[in-house]
Amino acid sequence: MASHHDLQLPDLVEFRRDEGQIRFHDERVLVMSAAAMGALRREIIASLGIVAARRLLFRFGFTHGYRDAVTLRAGFPWVDPLDGVRMGAMLHGVEGAVHADVVRLSRHPASNRFEAEALWRHSYEAEQHLQQCGAAAEPVCWTLCGYASGFCSACLGRDIYFRETQCAAVSGTHCAVSGRDADSWGAEGKRLRAEYGGDALLAEFEQPIRAAHPGSNAGDRRERRCSDDGRELDLLRERVDQYARRSQMILASGGMRKSLELAARVAPIDTGVLICGESGTGKEFVVRMIHEQSARAGQPLVSVNCAALAETLLESELFGHVRGAFTDAIRDKAGLFEVASAGTLFLDEVGEMSAGLQAKLLRALQEREIRRVGSETSIKASPRIVAATNRDLRAAVHAGAFREDLFYRLAAFVITVPPLRERREAVAPLAQEFLKRAASRFGKDLQGITPEAMRVLLDYDWPGNVRELQHAVERAAILAAGPRITGADLPPELRLRDGGVPLDPGFDLDEHERALIEKALAQFGGNRRRTAEALNISTVTLWRRIKQYGVRAPAPPRFAR
Ligand SMILES: [Zn+2]
Repeated sequence: MASHHDLQLPDLVEFRRDEGQIRFHDERVLVMSAAAMGALRREIIASLGIVAARRLLFRFGFTHGYRDAVTLRAGFPWVDPLDGVRMGAMLHGVEGAVHADVVRLSRHPASNRFEAEALWRHSYEAEQHLQQCGAAAEPVCWTLCGYASGFCSACLGRDIYFRETQCAAVSGTHCAVSGRDADSWGAEGKRLRAEYGGDALLAEFEQPIRAAHPGSNAGDRRERRCSDDGRELDLLRERVDQYARRSQMILASGGMRKSLELAARVAPIDTGVLICGESGTGKEFVVRMIHEQSARAGQPLVSVNCAALAETLLESELFGHVRGAFTDAIRDKAGLFEVASAGTLFLDEVGEMSAGLQAKLLRALQEREIRRVGSETSIKASPRIVAATNRDLRAAVHAGAFREDLFYRLAAFVITVPPLRERREAVAPLAQEFLKRAASRFGKDLQGITPEAMRVLLDYDWPGNVRELQHAVERAAILAAGPRITGADLPPELRLRDGGVPLDPGFDLDEHERALIEKALAQFGGNRRRTAEALNISTVTLWRRIKQYGVRAPAPPRFAR
Protein backbone atom coordinates (compact mmCIF):
# COMPACT_ATOMS: atom_id res chain seq x y z
CA MET A 1 0.00 0.00 0.00
CA ALA A 2 1.30 3.43 -0.91
CA SER A 3 1.69 5.98 1.83
CA HIS A 4 0.76 9.60 1.37
CA HIS A 5 4.43 10.40 0.96
CA ASP A 6 4.56 8.98 -2.52
CA LEU A 7 1.43 10.30 -4.18
CA GLN A 8 2.57 11.10 -7.71
CA LEU A 9 0.30 12.44 -10.40
CA PRO A 10 1.48 9.91 -13.04
CA ASP A 11 0.55 7.05 -10.71
CA LEU A 12 -2.89 8.47 -10.11
CA VAL A 13 -4.09 9.36 -13.56
CA GLU A 14 -4.17 7.64 -16.89
CA PHE A 15 -3.85 9.72 -20.04
CA ARG A 16 -5.98 8.30 -22.84
CA ARG A 17 -4.86 10.46 -25.70
CA ASP A 18 -6.83 8.59 -28.36
CA GLU A 19 -10.05 9.25 -26.51
CA GLY A 20 -9.22 12.77 -25.37
CA GLN A 21 -9.62 11.71 -21.77
CA ILE A 22 -7.74 11.73 -18.52
CA ARG A 23 -8.89 9.17 -15.96
CA PHE A 24 -8.42 9.18 -12.20
CA HIS A 25 -9.54 5.59 -11.58
CA ASP A 26 -13.21 5.54 -12.57
CA GLU A 27 -13.49 9.29 -12.76
CA ARG A 28 -12.88 11.46 -15.78
CA VAL A 29 -10.88 14.54 -14.74
CA LEU A 30 -9.95 17.79 -16.43
CA VAL A 31 -6.94 20.06 -16.56
CA MET A 32 -8.36 23.52 -16.19
CA SER A 33 -6.90 26.99 -16.28
CA ALA A 34 -6.91 28.74 -12.90
CA ALA A 35 -7.58 32.00 -14.72
CA ALA A 36 -10.73 30.54 -16.28
CA MET A 37 -11.92 29.52 -12.81
CA GLY A 38 -11.08 33.05 -11.65
CA ALA A 39 -13.13 34.61 -14.45
CA LEU A 40 -16.04 32.28 -13.71
CA ARG A 41 -15.87 33.31 -10.05
CA ARG A 42 -15.97 36.98 -10.98
CA GLU A 43 -19.04 36.40 -13.13
CA ILE A 44 -20.79 34.42 -10.43
CA ILE A 45 -20.10 37.08 -7.81
CA ALA A 46 -21.29 39.82 -10.18
CA SER A 47 -24.51 38.07 -11.12
CA LEU A 48 -25.50 36.32 -7.88
CA GLY A 49 -23.78 38.34 -5.17
CA ILE A 50 -21.08 37.26 -2.77
CA VAL A 51 -23.30 35.19 -0.44
CA ALA A 52 -24.66 32.98 -3.22
CA ALA A 53 -21.23 32.78 -4.87
CA ARG A 54 -19.70 31.51 -1.66
CA ARG A 55 -22.35 28.80 -1.33
CA LEU A 56 -22.12 27.76 -4.94
CA LEU A 57 -18.33 27.56 -5.04
CA PHE A 58 -18.21 25.84 -1.65
CA ARG A 59 -20.57 23.17 -2.89
CA PHE A 60 -18.63 22.77 -6.10
CA GLY A 61 -15.47 22.23 -4.03
CA PHE A 62 -17.30 19.90 -1.66
CA THR A 63 -18.41 17.62 -4.48
CA HIS A 64 -14.91 17.66 -5.93
CA GLY A 65 -13.32 16.74 -2.58
CA TYR A 66 -15.88 14.10 -1.79
CA ARG A 67 -15.45 12.39 -5.14
CA ASP A 68 -11.67 12.58 -4.89
CA ALA A 69 -11.78 10.83 -1.50
CA VAL A 70 -13.99 8.06 -2.80
CA THR A 71 -11.77 7.54 -5.84
CA LEU A 72 -8.50 7.77 -3.95
CA ARG A 73 -9.67 5.27 -1.36
CA ALA A 74 -10.37 2.75 -4.11
CA GLY A 75 -6.71 2.93 -5.16
CA PHE A 76 -5.02 3.40 -1.80
CA PRO A 77 -7.28 1.90 0.85
CA TRP A 78 -6.43 3.47 4.17
CA VAL A 79 -7.17 2.08 7.59
CA ASP A 80 -7.06 5.19 9.72
CA PRO A 81 -9.38 7.93 8.42
CA LEU A 82 -6.72 10.45 9.39
CA ASP A 83 -4.36 8.83 6.87
CA GLY A 84 -7.02 9.49 4.29
CA VAL A 85 -7.21 13.13 5.39
CA ARG A 86 -3.43 13.49 5.06
CA MET A 87 -3.53 11.99 1.58
CA GLY A 88 -6.31 14.42 0.70
CA ALA A 89 -4.16 17.39 1.72
CA MET A 90 -1.38 15.95 -0.44
CA LEU A 91 -3.68 15.30 -3.39
CA HIS A 92 -5.02 18.84 -3.28
CA GLY A 93 -1.43 19.99 -3.80
CA VAL A 94 -0.78 17.45 -6.53
CA GLU A 95 -3.84 18.79 -8.32
CA GLY A 96 -2.34 22.27 -8.17
CA ALA A 97 -4.96 23.93 -5.97
CA VAL A 98 -2.98 24.78 -2.84
CA HIS A 99 -0.01 23.72 -0.75
CA ALA A 100 -1.46 22.44 2.50
CA ASP A 101 0.52 22.04 5.72
CA VAL A 102 -1.45 20.06 8.25
CA VAL A 103 -0.68 21.63 11.63
CA ARG A 104 -2.93 19.58 13.85
CA LEU A 105 -5.11 16.57 13.22
CA SER A 106 -7.11 14.58 15.74
CA ARG A 107 -9.97 12.18 15.86
CA HIS A 108 -11.59 10.67 18.93
CA PRO A 109 -11.98 6.98 18.14
CA ALA A 110 -15.13 6.35 20.16
CA SER A 111 -17.12 9.49 19.36
CA ASN A 112 -15.59 10.06 15.88
CA ARG A 113 -15.13 13.73 16.78
CA PHE A 114 -12.74 15.41 14.41
CA GLU A 115 -10.55 18.50 14.52
CA ALA A 116 -7.97 19.80 12.09
CA GLU A 117 -5.89 22.92 11.58
CA ALA A 118 -3.90 23.65 8.46
CA LEU A 119 -1.95 26.40 6.76
CA TRP A 120 -2.57 26.95 3.08
CA ARG A 121 0.11 28.52 0.91
CA HIS A 122 -0.23 29.59 -2.74
CA SER A 123 -4.00 29.17 -2.79
CA TYR A 124 -5.02 29.42 -6.45
CA GLU A 125 -8.29 30.84 -5.25
CA ALA A 126 -6.88 33.72 -3.19
CA GLU A 127 -4.52 34.47 -6.05
CA GLN A 128 -7.33 34.58 -8.63
CA HIS A 129 -9.58 36.60 -6.40
CA LEU A 130 -6.87 39.21 -5.93
CA GLN A 131 -6.24 39.33 -9.68
CA GLN A 132 -9.82 39.46 -10.84
CA CYS A 133 -11.70 41.10 -7.98
CA GLY A 134 -9.05 42.87 -5.91
CA ALA A 135 -8.47 42.60 -2.15
CA ALA A 136 -11.28 40.95 -0.22
CA ALA A 137 -12.92 42.00 3.02
CA GLU A 138 -13.44 38.41 4.16
CA PRO A 139 -11.86 35.01 3.38
CA VAL A 140 -12.56 33.82 -0.16
CA CYS A 141 -11.05 30.31 -0.59
CA TRP A 142 -14.48 28.78 -0.92
CA THR A 143 -13.79 25.93 -3.34
CA LEU A 144 -10.77 24.97 -1.22
CA CYS A 145 -12.82 24.97 2.01
CA GLY A 146 -15.47 22.99 0.17
CA TYR A 147 -12.90 20.51 -1.07
CA ALA A 148 -11.42 19.97 2.41
CA SER A 149 -14.92 19.62 3.88
CA GLY A 150 -16.03 17.15 1.22
CA PHE A 151 -12.86 15.10 1.35
CA CYS A 152 -12.90 14.82 5.16
CA SER A 153 -16.66 14.12 5.24
CA ALA A 154 -16.03 11.15 2.99
CA CYS A 155 -13.11 9.92 5.16
CA LEU A 156 -14.89 10.29 8.47
CA GLY A 157 -18.36 9.30 7.32
CA ARG A 158 -19.98 12.40 8.78
CA ASP A 159 -20.40 16.06 7.91
CA ILE A 160 -17.19 18.00 8.38
CA TYR A 161 -16.92 21.74 7.79
CA PHE A 162 -13.80 23.79 7.16
CA ARG A 163 -13.62 27.53 7.40
CA GLU A 164 -10.79 30.00 7.00
CA THR A 165 -9.62 31.97 10.01
CA GLN A 166 -7.26 33.92 7.80
CA CYS A 167 -7.01 34.40 4.03
CA ALA A 168 -4.24 35.66 1.78
CA ALA A 169 -6.86 37.49 -0.30
CA VAL A 170 -7.58 39.64 2.76
CA SER A 171 -4.04 40.11 4.08
CA GLY A 172 -0.87 38.21 4.83
CA THR A 173 0.98 35.56 2.85
CA HIS A 174 -1.08 32.49 3.53
CA CYS A 175 -4.49 31.21 4.56
CA ALA A 176 -5.29 29.34 7.79
CA VAL A 177 -8.20 26.92 8.19
CA SER A 178 -9.98 24.96 10.91
CA GLY A 179 -12.05 21.90 10.26
CA ARG A 180 -14.44 20.14 12.63
CA ASP A 181 -17.43 17.88 12.57
CA ALA A 182 -20.79 19.60 12.72
CA ASP A 183 -21.27 18.71 16.43
CA SER A 184 -17.86 19.99 17.51
CA TRP A 185 -18.53 23.34 15.85
CA GLY A 186 -21.42 23.85 18.28
CA ALA A 187 -23.52 26.92 17.44
CA GLU A 188 -21.03 27.85 14.73
CA GLY A 189 -21.86 24.54 13.01
CA LYS A 190 -25.45 25.58 12.49
CA ARG A 191 -24.29 28.82 10.92
CA LEU A 192 -21.79 27.03 8.67
CA ARG A 193 -24.38 24.51 7.60
CA ALA A 194 -26.76 27.32 6.72
CA GLU A 195 -23.98 29.22 5.01
CA TYR A 196 -22.87 26.26 2.91
CA GLY A 197 -26.03 24.14 2.89
CA GLY A 198 -28.08 23.05 -0.10
CA ASP A 199 -31.40 24.34 1.14
CA ALA A 200 -30.16 27.85 1.55
CA LEU A 201 -28.34 27.60 -1.75
CA LEU A 202 -31.50 26.80 -3.67
CA ALA A 203 -33.37 29.56 -1.86
CA GLU A 204 -30.65 31.91 -2.97
CA PHE A 205 -31.08 30.83 -6.56
CA GLU A 206 -34.81 31.10 -6.51
CA GLN A 207 -34.72 34.85 -6.70
CA PRO A 208 -32.67 35.28 -9.88
CA ILE A 209 -34.48 32.31 -11.47
CA ARG A 210 -37.85 33.81 -10.70
CA ALA A 211 -36.68 37.19 -11.97
CA ALA A 212 -35.65 35.56 -15.23
CA HIS A 213 -38.83 33.46 -15.59
CA PRO A 214 -41.57 35.34 -13.77
CA GLY A 215 -44.23 32.75 -14.55
CA SER A 216 -42.25 29.72 -13.43
CA ASN A 217 -43.51 27.61 -10.60
CA ALA A 218 -41.14 26.66 -7.82
CA GLY A 219 -42.78 23.28 -7.39
CA ASP A 220 -40.13 21.07 -8.93
CA ARG A 221 -37.42 22.94 -7.13
CA ARG A 222 -39.22 22.40 -3.89
CA GLU A 223 -39.13 18.72 -4.60
CA ARG A 224 -35.38 18.82 -5.03
CA ARG A 225 -34.95 20.64 -1.77
CA CYS A 226 -33.33 18.70 1.00
CA SER A 227 -34.21 18.59 4.63
CA ASP A 228 -31.64 19.73 7.14
CA ASP A 229 -29.60 16.59 6.75
CA GLY A 230 -30.33 16.13 3.07
CA ARG A 231 -26.74 16.23 2.07
CA GLU A 232 -25.72 13.78 4.74
CA LEU A 233 -28.25 11.39 3.23
CA ASP A 234 -26.88 11.96 -0.24
CA LEU A 235 -23.44 11.00 1.02
CA LEU A 236 -24.83 7.88 2.65
CA ARG A 237 -26.61 6.89 -0.55
CA GLU A 238 -23.46 7.31 -2.52
CA ARG A 239 -21.50 5.18 -0.08
CA VAL A 240 -24.16 2.47 -0.20
CA ASP A 241 -24.22 2.47 -4.02
CA GLN A 242 -20.48 2.23 -4.17
CA TYR A 243 -20.36 -0.60 -1.68
CA ALA A 244 -23.09 -2.50 -3.53
CA ARG A 245 -21.25 -2.12 -6.82
CA ARG A 246 -17.97 -3.25 -5.33
CA SER A 247 -19.41 -6.29 -3.56
CA GLN A 248 -21.59 -7.17 -6.57
CA MET A 249 -24.62 -6.89 -4.42
CA ILE A 250 -28.00 -6.30 -5.98
CA LEU A 251 -29.84 -3.41 -4.37
CA ALA A 252 -33.31 -4.33 -5.47
CA SER A 253 -35.42 -2.76 -2.77
CA GLY A 254 -35.69 0.23 -0.51
CA GLY A 255 -35.68 -2.02 2.57
CA MET A 256 -32.18 -3.35 2.00
CA ARG A 257 -30.90 0.09 1.03
CA LYS A 258 -32.22 1.48 4.28
CA SER A 259 -30.40 -1.22 6.26
CA LEU A 260 -27.15 -0.43 4.45
CA GLU A 261 -27.61 3.29 4.99
CA LEU A 262 -27.92 2.63 8.69
CA ALA A 263 -24.80 0.47 8.50
CA ALA A 264 -22.89 3.26 6.76
CA ARG A 265 -24.08 5.68 9.41
CA VAL A 266 -22.99 3.59 12.39
CA ALA A 267 -19.81 2.19 10.79
CA PRO A 268 -17.41 4.96 11.84
CA ILE A 269 -18.71 5.02 15.42
CA ASP A 270 -16.91 2.31 17.36
CA THR A 271 -19.94 0.75 19.00
CA GLY A 272 -21.68 -2.62 19.13
CA VAL A 273 -24.27 -3.33 16.47
CA LEU A 274 -27.03 -5.94 16.48
CA ILE A 275 -28.43 -7.05 13.15
CA CYS A 276 -31.87 -8.64 13.25
CA GLY A 277 -33.23 -10.62 10.37
CA GLU A 278 -34.07 -14.09 9.12
CA SER A 279 -31.35 -16.24 7.65
CA GLY A 280 -30.65 -15.73 3.98
CA THR A 281 -31.57 -12.03 4.05
CA GLY A 282 -28.00 -10.85 3.45
CA LYS A 283 -27.01 -9.87 6.98
CA GLU A 284 -23.37 -10.63 6.12
CA PHE A 285 -23.41 -7.75 3.57
CA VAL A 286 -24.42 -5.40 6.36
CA VAL A 287 -21.66 -6.72 8.61
CA ARG A 288 -19.03 -6.35 5.91
CA MET A 289 -20.13 -2.83 5.12
CA ILE A 290 -19.89 -1.83 8.78
CA HIS A 291 -16.40 -3.27 8.94
CA GLU A 292 -15.17 -1.82 5.65
CA GLN A 293 -16.45 1.66 6.38
CA SER A 294 -15.03 1.75 9.89
CA ALA A 295 -11.63 2.77 11.16
CA ARG A 296 -10.99 -0.97 11.60
CA ALA A 297 -11.13 -1.67 7.87
CA GLY A 298 -7.95 -3.42 6.83
CA GLN A 299 -7.86 -5.33 10.11
CA PRO A 300 -9.37 -8.81 10.33
CA LEU A 301 -13.11 -9.37 10.10
CA VAL A 302 -13.79 -12.78 11.60
CA SER A 303 -17.09 -14.48 12.12
CA VAL A 304 -18.42 -17.39 14.06
CA ASN A 305 -21.82 -19.01 14.06
CA CYS A 306 -22.82 -19.44 17.69
CA ALA A 307 -25.50 -22.01 16.82
CA ALA A 308 -23.11 -24.28 14.94
CA LEU A 309 -20.77 -25.16 17.81
CA ALA A 310 -21.23 -26.89 21.12
CA GLU A 311 -20.70 -24.72 24.19
CA THR A 312 -17.15 -25.83 25.05
CA LEU A 313 -16.01 -25.67 21.45
CA LEU A 314 -17.48 -22.22 20.99
CA GLU A 315 -15.77 -21.03 24.15
CA SER A 316 -12.35 -22.17 22.97
CA GLU A 317 -13.09 -20.77 19.51
CA LEU A 318 -13.90 -17.34 20.99
CA PHE A 319 -11.32 -17.10 23.74
CA GLY A 320 -8.65 -19.63 22.71
CA HIS A 321 -7.07 -22.24 24.96
CA VAL A 322 -3.74 -23.29 26.40
CA ARG A 323 -2.05 -26.59 25.90
CA GLY A 324 -3.60 -29.32 28.00
CA ALA A 325 -6.79 -27.39 28.74
CA PHE A 326 -8.65 -30.39 27.37
CA THR A 327 -7.83 -33.65 25.62
CA ASP A 328 -7.43 -32.26 22.11
CA ALA A 329 -5.59 -29.12 23.19
CA ILE A 330 -2.14 -30.14 22.03
CA ARG A 331 -0.88 -26.60 21.71
CA ASP A 332 -1.76 -23.02 22.72
CA LYS A 333 -4.29 -21.43 20.46
CA ALA A 334 -5.47 -17.84 20.19
CA GLY A 335 -9.22 -17.29 20.09
CA LEU A 336 -11.19 -15.09 17.71
CA PHE A 337 -11.30 -12.29 20.28
CA GLU A 338 -7.52 -11.99 20.03
CA VAL A 339 -7.38 -12.51 16.28
CA ALA A 340 -9.95 -9.77 15.72
CA SER A 341 -8.80 -7.51 18.54
CA ALA A 342 -8.01 -4.62 16.19
CA GLY A 343 -10.80 -5.59 13.83
CA THR A 344 -14.39 -6.76 13.92
CA LEU A 345 -15.83 -9.95 15.40
CA PHE A 346 -19.13 -11.07 13.92
CA LEU A 347 -21.19 -13.29 16.22
CA ASP A 348 -23.89 -14.85 14.10
CA GLU A 349 -26.98 -16.34 15.76
CA VAL A 350 -25.88 -14.89 19.07
CA GLY A 351 -29.28 -15.71 20.55
CA GLU A 352 -28.31 -19.40 20.63
CA MET A 353 -25.49 -18.84 23.10
CA SER A 354 -25.73 -20.73 26.40
CA ALA A 355 -26.18 -18.84 29.68
CA GLY A 356 -22.65 -19.72 30.78
CA LEU A 357 -21.09 -18.35 27.63
CA GLN A 358 -23.30 -15.28 27.73
CA ALA A 359 -21.76 -14.45 31.12
CA LYS A 360 -18.24 -14.97 29.79
CA LEU A 361 -18.93 -12.88 26.71
CA LEU A 362 -20.33 -10.05 28.83
CA ARG A 363 -17.24 -10.12 31.04
CA ALA A 364 -14.92 -10.02 28.03
CA LEU A 365 -16.77 -6.99 26.67
CA GLN A 366 -16.79 -5.16 29.99
CA GLU A 367 -13.16 -5.83 30.92
CA ARG A 368 -11.89 -5.61 27.33
CA GLU A 369 -9.78 -8.64 28.10
CA ILE A 370 -10.15 -12.40 27.90
CA ARG A 371 -8.70 -15.52 29.41
CA ARG A 372 -7.82 -18.48 27.23
CA VAL A 373 -9.49 -21.68 28.40
CA GLY A 374 -7.23 -23.29 30.99
CA SER A 375 -5.19 -20.14 31.56
CA GLU A 376 -4.96 -17.84 34.59
CA THR A 377 -3.57 -14.88 32.67
CA SER A 378 -5.68 -12.15 31.13
CA ILE A 379 -5.01 -10.89 27.64
CA LYS A 380 -6.18 -7.52 26.33
CA ALA A 381 -8.61 -7.91 23.44
CA SER A 382 -11.23 -5.46 22.27
CA PRO A 383 -12.69 -6.32 18.89
CA ARG A 384 -15.71 -4.42 17.71
CA ILE A 385 -18.64 -6.77 18.14
CA VAL A 386 -21.30 -7.02 15.49
CA ALA A 387 -23.89 -9.63 16.42
CA ALA A 388 -26.78 -11.03 14.46
CA THR A 389 -29.88 -12.91 15.41
CA ASN A 390 -32.77 -14.44 13.53
CA ARG A 391 -35.00 -14.59 16.56
CA ASP A 392 -36.62 -11.90 18.64
CA LEU A 393 -33.84 -11.30 21.14
CA ARG A 394 -35.89 -8.83 23.15
CA ALA A 395 -38.51 -11.51 23.64
CA ALA A 396 -35.75 -13.91 24.69
CA VAL A 397 -34.68 -11.33 27.28
CA HIS A 398 -38.25 -11.12 28.61
CA ALA A 399 -38.43 -14.90 28.73
CA GLY A 400 -35.19 -14.99 30.71
CA ALA A 401 -33.33 -16.91 27.98
CA PHE A 402 -30.96 -14.09 27.17
CA ARG A 403 -29.16 -11.76 29.60
CA GLU A 404 -30.55 -8.24 29.59
CA ASP A 405 -27.20 -6.60 30.37
CA LEU A 406 -25.54 -8.43 27.49
CA PHE A 407 -28.43 -7.56 25.19
CA TYR A 408 -28.02 -3.83 25.81
CA ARG A 409 -24.28 -4.06 25.29
CA LEU A 410 -24.67 -5.86 21.97
CA ALA A 411 -27.66 -3.84 20.82
CA ALA A 412 -26.24 -0.34 21.24
CA PHE A 413 -27.39 0.12 17.65
CA VAL A 414 -29.92 -2.15 15.98
CA ILE A 415 -30.32 -2.71 12.25
CA THR A 416 -33.23 -4.78 10.99
CA VAL A 417 -32.93 -6.52 7.64
CA PRO A 418 -36.41 -7.20 6.24
CA PRO A 419 -37.34 -10.66 4.92
CA LEU A 420 -37.84 -11.06 1.19
CA ARG A 421 -41.63 -11.56 1.49
CA GLU A 422 -41.86 -8.05 2.95
CA ARG A 423 -40.11 -6.57 -0.05
CA ARG A 424 -41.69 -8.48 -2.91
CA GLU A 425 -40.84 -5.70 -5.33
CA ALA A 426 -37.28 -7.05 -5.08
CA VAL A 427 -38.10 -10.59 -6.27
CA ALA A 428 -38.25 -9.90 -10.02
CA PRO A 429 -35.09 -7.76 -10.31
CA LEU A 430 -33.18 -10.16 -8.04
CA ALA A 431 -34.31 -13.18 -10.06
CA GLN A 432 -33.32 -11.52 -13.35
CA GLU A 433 -29.89 -10.61 -12.04
CA PHE A 434 -29.27 -14.06 -10.52
CA LEU A 435 -30.28 -15.59 -13.85
CA LYS A 436 -27.88 -13.35 -15.75
CA ARG A 437 -25.03 -14.36 -13.46
CA ALA A 438 -25.93 -18.06 -13.52
CA ALA A 439 -26.17 -18.03 -17.32
CA SER A 440 -22.74 -16.54 -17.65
CA ARG A 441 -21.30 -18.89 -15.02
CA PHE A 442 -22.76 -22.04 -16.61
CA GLY A 443 -22.11 -20.77 -20.13
CA LYS A 444 -25.77 -21.04 -21.11
CA ASP A 445 -27.60 -18.69 -23.39
CA LEU A 446 -30.63 -17.90 -21.22
CA GLN A 447 -32.86 -15.02 -22.21
CA GLY A 448 -35.18 -14.69 -19.27
CA ILE A 449 -38.02 -16.11 -17.23
CA THR A 450 -41.43 -17.02 -18.63
CA PRO A 451 -44.38 -15.12 -17.16
CA GLU A 452 -45.80 -18.22 -15.47
CA ALA A 453 -42.45 -19.04 -13.86
CA MET A 454 -42.23 -15.44 -12.69
CA ARG A 455 -45.72 -15.76 -11.26
CA VAL A 456 -44.56 -18.74 -9.21
CA LEU A 457 -41.56 -16.76 -7.95
CA LEU A 458 -43.74 -13.80 -7.03
CA ASP A 459 -46.32 -15.92 -5.24
CA TYR A 460 -43.90 -17.87 -3.10
CA ASP A 461 -43.22 -16.85 0.50
CA TRP A 462 -39.41 -17.33 0.47
CA PRO A 463 -38.78 -18.58 4.00
CA GLY A 464 -35.11 -18.92 3.01
CA ASN A 465 -35.09 -15.37 1.64
CA VAL A 466 -32.65 -14.06 -0.97
CA ARG A 467 -30.37 -17.07 -0.64
CA GLU A 468 -33.24 -19.44 -1.39
CA LEU A 469 -34.25 -17.33 -4.39
CA GLN A 470 -30.69 -17.41 -5.66
CA HIS A 471 -30.48 -21.21 -5.32
CA ALA A 472 -33.87 -21.67 -6.98
CA VAL A 473 -32.86 -19.57 -9.97
CA GLU A 474 -29.47 -21.26 -10.26
CA ARG A 475 -31.07 -24.69 -10.17
CA ALA A 476 -33.57 -23.63 -12.82
CA ALA A 477 -30.78 -22.21 -14.96
CA ILE A 478 -29.09 -25.61 -14.92
CA LEU A 479 -32.29 -27.49 -15.76
CA ALA A 480 -33.64 -25.11 -18.39
CA ALA A 481 -33.73 -26.74 -21.81
CA GLY A 482 -35.06 -23.75 -23.73
CA PRO A 483 -33.99 -20.12 -23.83
CA ARG A 484 -36.18 -19.20 -20.89
CA ILE A 485 -36.77 -20.58 -17.42
CA THR A 486 -40.18 -22.19 -17.18
CA GLY A 487 -42.29 -23.19 -14.20
CA ALA A 488 -41.16 -26.79 -14.62
CA ASP A 489 -37.50 -25.78 -14.06
CA LEU A 490 -38.27 -24.34 -10.63
CA PRO A 491 -37.87 -26.39 -7.44
CA PRO A 492 -41.04 -28.38 -6.62
CA GLU A 493 -41.55 -26.78 -3.20
CA LEU A 494 -42.18 -23.44 -4.91
CA ARG A 495 -45.01 -24.91 -6.94
CA LEU A 496 -46.64 -26.84 -4.12
CA ARG A 497 -48.64 -23.99 -2.74
CA ASP A 498 -51.68 -25.42 -1.02
CA GLY A 499 -50.46 -28.95 -0.87
CA GLY A 500 -53.46 -30.20 -2.84
CA VAL A 501 -51.70 -31.39 -5.95
CA PRO A 502 -49.34 -34.32 -5.86
CA LEU A 503 -46.04 -33.65 -7.57
CA ASP A 504 -44.69 -36.08 -10.06
CA PRO A 505 -42.28 -35.86 -13.03
CA GLY A 506 -45.25 -35.02 -15.23
CA PHE A 507 -46.33 -32.15 -13.00
CA ASP A 508 -47.68 -29.32 -15.11
CA LEU A 509 -48.03 -25.90 -13.61
CA ASP A 510 -50.68 -24.76 -16.08
CA GLU A 511 -52.69 -27.87 -15.37
CA HIS A 512 -52.33 -27.19 -11.66
CA GLU A 513 -53.57 -23.65 -12.12
CA ARG A 514 -56.48 -24.75 -14.27
CA ALA A 515 -57.53 -27.28 -11.63
CA LEU A 516 -57.32 -24.63 -8.92
CA ILE A 517 -59.48 -22.20 -10.85
CA GLU A 518 -62.08 -24.87 -11.58
CA LYS A 519 -62.17 -25.87 -7.94
CA ALA A 520 -62.53 -22.29 -6.74
CA LEU A 521 -65.20 -21.47 -9.30
CA ALA A 522 -67.21 -24.48 -8.23
CA GLN A 523 -66.78 -23.53 -4.60
CA PHE A 524 -68.15 -20.03 -5.19
CA GLY A 525 -70.93 -21.11 -7.48
CA GLY A 526 -69.33 -19.53 -10.53
CA ASN A 527 -69.07 -16.12 -8.90
CA ARG A 528 -66.02 -14.68 -10.62
CA ARG A 529 -65.49 -11.76 -8.26
CA ARG A 530 -65.37 -14.00 -5.19
CA THR A 531 -63.27 -16.58 -7.03
CA ALA A 532 -60.75 -13.95 -8.04
CA GLU A 533 -60.61 -12.63 -4.46
CA ALA A 534 -60.02 -16.10 -3.10
CA LEU A 535 -57.23 -16.75 -5.60
CA ASN A 536 -55.74 -13.32 -4.95
CA ILE A 537 -55.81 -12.33 -8.62
CA SER A 538 -57.78 -9.65 -10.46
CA THR A 539 -61.08 -10.49 -12.18
CA VAL A 540 -59.41 -9.57 -15.48
CA THR A 541 -56.63 -12.13 -14.87
CA LEU A 542 -59.23 -14.71 -13.88
CA TRP A 543 -61.20 -14.04 -17.03
CA ARG A 544 -58.02 -14.43 -19.13
CA ARG A 545 -57.10 -17.71 -17.47
CA ILE A 546 -60.61 -19.08 -17.92
CA LYS A 547 -60.35 -18.29 -21.63
CA GLN A 548 -56.77 -19.55 -21.88
CA TYR A 549 -57.50 -22.89 -20.22
CA GLY A 550 -61.00 -23.26 -21.64
CA VAL A 551 -62.43 -23.68 -18.16
CA ARG A 552 -66.14 -24.33 -18.22
CA ALA A 553 -67.65 -22.22 -15.50
CA PRO A 554 -70.46 -23.85 -13.61
CA ALA A 555 -73.82 -22.22 -14.13
CA PRO A 556 -74.67 -19.79 -11.36
CA PRO A 557 -77.29 -21.11 -8.96
CA ARG A 558 -80.71 -20.15 -10.11
CA PHE A 559 -81.97 -18.93 -6.80
CA ALA A 560 -79.31 -16.91 -5.20
CA ARG A 561 -80.11 -16.07 -1.60
ZN1 LIG B 1 -7.71 31.96 1.43
